[in-house]
Amino acid sequence: MHVVLVGPPGAGKGTQAQLIAARLHIPHVSTGDIFRGNVSEMTELGRQAATFMNAGELVPDAVTIAMVRDRLAKPDAHAGFILDGFPRTLVQAEQLQTTLAELDENLDVVLQMKTDDDELVRRLSGRRVCQGCGRIWHLDYDPTSVANSCDECGYGLSQRDDDRPETIRRRLQVYREQTEPLVDFYTELKLLAVIDATGTVDEVTLRSVQALMEARSA
Ligand SMILES: [Zn+2]
Repeated sequence: MHVVLVGPPGAGKGTQAQLIAARLHIPHVSTGDIFRGNVSEMTELGRQAATFMNAGELVPDAVTIAMVRDRLAKPDAHAGFILDGFPRTLVQAEQLQTTLAELDENLDVVLQMKTDDDELVRRLSGRRVCQGCGRIWHLDYDPTSVANSCDECGYGLSQRDDDRPETIRRRLQVYREQTEPLVDFYTELKLLAVIDATGTVDEVTLRSVQALMEARSA
């Protein structure tokens, strides 16, 4: 089964992709991992990507899609994959269709995780990072026993700029602007399945797997 997973920042997309991949016995293909792999193995594409990243620039689509293509061409991806972190834009989605056609593959379903913005802001804005050991805590879901002091090393905690409510709202806005055309594109291709991504991790995994099974038998 060839799956693309789409979801907003903070919805637990990476975790779900891993769990769904394990349940369906297909590889979890994360663009983050592909990037890191290419950079650490110093492939030609990795070197190109590193040049842009070191300059603080976005890696161009051509480099990204070439890396994704290399990964999807590996034998283990032939029977299926769950793609996480790509495509993010309409242009990338179109490139993915072309790439899959060249590899003689097809997408089976695009799973979109739907969540409530306020819930995402709550989840993300509660995160605190230890300034000593880097452990991530959460004010509500994983609090320290003494406020603002890491249980493991005693250092103080801070909030990353990325996790401030105003930044989160902006990231969600960017996500929505980029994703809407993507969702329209996949709806047109009759590939889109939408799931409710609120609730516990297990509940969301169960809903995801069910949606994928239904899409497969449809
Ligand atoms: Zn610490």
